[in-house]
Amino acid sequence: MTAQEYLKKYFGYTTFRPFQEEIINHLLSHQDALVLMPTGGGKSLCYQLPALMMEGVAVVVSPLISLMKDQVDQLRANGVSAASLNSANTEEERLWMRRELMSGRLKLLYVSPERLLTDLPNISRDMKISLFAIDEAHCISQWGHDFRQEYTQMGVLKQTFPNVPVVALTATADKVTRDDILRQMCIPHARVFQSSFDRPNLSLAVRRGYDSRQRQRAVLDFVTRHSNDCGIIYCLSRKNTETVAHMLEQHHIPVAVYHAGLTAEERERAQQAFVNDRVQVVCATVAFGMGINKSNVRYVIHYNLPRSIENYYQEIGRAGRDGLPSDTMLFFNLQDVIQLRHFAEESGQKSINMERLDRMVEYAQSQVCRRRTLLNYFGESSASDCGNCDVCRNPPVRFDGSQLVQMLLSAVVRTGQKATMRQVCDILCGTYSPELKAKGWDLLPTFAVGRNIPLRDWKDYIAQMLQMGYVEIAYDEHNHLRPMSLGIEVLYGRAQAMMVRPQSEEQAPSVRRSRAGKAVETPLVSGKTSLADGVEDKALFNHLRELRLRLANEQGFPPYVVMSDKSLHQLATDRPQSEEAFGQISGIGEFKRKRYGKVFTDSIREFLKNR
Ligand code: ADP
Ligand code: ZN
Repeated sequence: MTAQEYLKKYFGYTTFRPFQEEIINHLLSHQDALVLMPTGGGKSLCYQLPALMMEGVAVVVSPLISLMKDQVDQLRANGVSAASLNSANTEEERLWMRRELMSGRLKLLYVSPERLLTDLPNISRDMKISLFAIDEAHCISQWGHDFRQEYTQMGVLKQTFPNVPVVALTATADKVTRDDILRQMCIPHARVFQSSFDRPNLSLAVRRGYDSRQRQRAVLDFVTRHSNDCGIIYCLSRKNTETVAHMLEQHHIPVAVYHAGLTAEERERAQQAFVNDRVQVVCATVAFGMGINKSNVRYVIHYNLPRSIENYYQEIGRAGRDGLPSDTMLFFNLQDVIQLRHFAEESGQKSINMERLDRMVEYAQSQVCRRRTLLNYFGESSASDCGNCDVCRNPPVRFDGSQLVQMLLSAVVRTGQKATMRQVCDILCGTYSPELKAKGWDLLPTFAVGRNIPLRDWKDYIAQMLQMGYVEIAYDEHNHLRPMSLGIEVLYGRAQAMMVRPQSEEQAPSVRRSRAGKAVETPLVSGKTSLADGVEDKALFNHLRELRLRLANEQGFPPYVVMSDKSLHQLATDRPQSEEAFGQISGIGEFKRKRYGKVFTDSIREFLKNR
């Protein structure tokens, strides 16, 4: 059987993603590899497929029990014998594993790095090892954010088993980490496969200058518009996770919170509820991270600014692993910048972290295609705009904004450079406050000169002025605003300031499309309404989703493991009524065809008859 035939038989796919086939052939010829692919790029298949084709058992090193469990579930759901060796194993499981190992049936064994070193002699005595795969290999590097001491000993594998191919896989692209992996794994000559980091199925959007009330409303709108979908909302603080969750709960949206202040059991419960589709939204701090393999996360919202582009990209990468269109939205406001600068200063690596934050801020304020900015950051260039980001959808409109700069700077100068951004906004908008009165700022000639411009737009304009170097925030002096020389030129009419109009309140959300490129609503009238071929039947999709949930609960798998969203959409579009046609659906291998063919096709037939 060829690799292509294995792909269809075990995974139900007909074509390889970029690089998968090359990597598989490389490993089959017993050579080492380093695989750099974005989250959702399809890394697992690169070692799982050779593991099935080769004699013996593939040993996969993985840092978290939840990740191992997810992978083992996925493999078992496809009829592959796989197991994970970890501290939570029962005696019964260990016995079963041993039997499977001895009989040669076990094809993949997942193991934590600490377990591996102690159990390796037993494994290699009992069975031939086909290959070693080191998942989340960036954990080896102290540079990364997920450094794990135990990973640094993995070099022993190549030294002890020089003839067994080693593949290290990660979604972290930077060069320091990559060199660290090759060196520490003792595979200096491994071939490096680097695929594009682009995730074209993720839409990118940034909302600037929303205060917390506006942000909450925007979040609620967004979540309500995605009422059948699951998503993650990342917040900077525990308090924010709770505030947002509470707000959603009040609108009857099933939600969980996740942060480092919860007990391990509470966190586990939240994660399981999300993975098993019992809650729709998780409001989380970045503690909700690497263990999230759920493939049908349809959106990621950043309620606060992430601290670096690396973090941002990794976090939004948790959406749309199944390749279906998914949305991301980032809220940007200068309050977060001030707070994050403070964190960076205390972090012990001040200059690096400050630099990372600056790049994040530039991204959020960028007026060019966001995907190009991101890809450029990761060292990839792209020749055209993406069409799937807010800048591409609403190209910036420029105008002469010199007068705005003059208003702002005269307020800044007249307060003796003693006002924060919020206070300057109050002056410009003519908002009375006891504070302003006490300082006499309500009597300034600039008071209320900008009242015709909404506060949110002012914030946006000021952010632009900061970015263009007309004004700066004196972080060392209570965050007061301070004019810069370029701004002074504009203030005295010696230079012109081109500005961009703030985004309008509502931008078109990305349009969900079925596989065939047409999205339709289910007709409201019941009866014999039949849909055209190649059009997704939304009601059928929902019906099948319920069936999937029931089967998942019965079988103890998360729903997306029983069947991906992508397969469900295709089922609702093609509406197969025989087991053979069912087997043609992407993601349905031989095992799933036999296991689920009847129940799904019966359900489809029944549904169509009664509609
Ligand atoms: P990664 O580990 O790189 O984050 P995964 O290995 O979890 O990504 O793969 C992401 C998704 O893509 C999974 O749902 C997987 O089944 C799917 N996938 C992988 N390879 C293919 C392929 N050749 N065709 C279609 N889907 C694929
Ligand atoms: Zn774009």
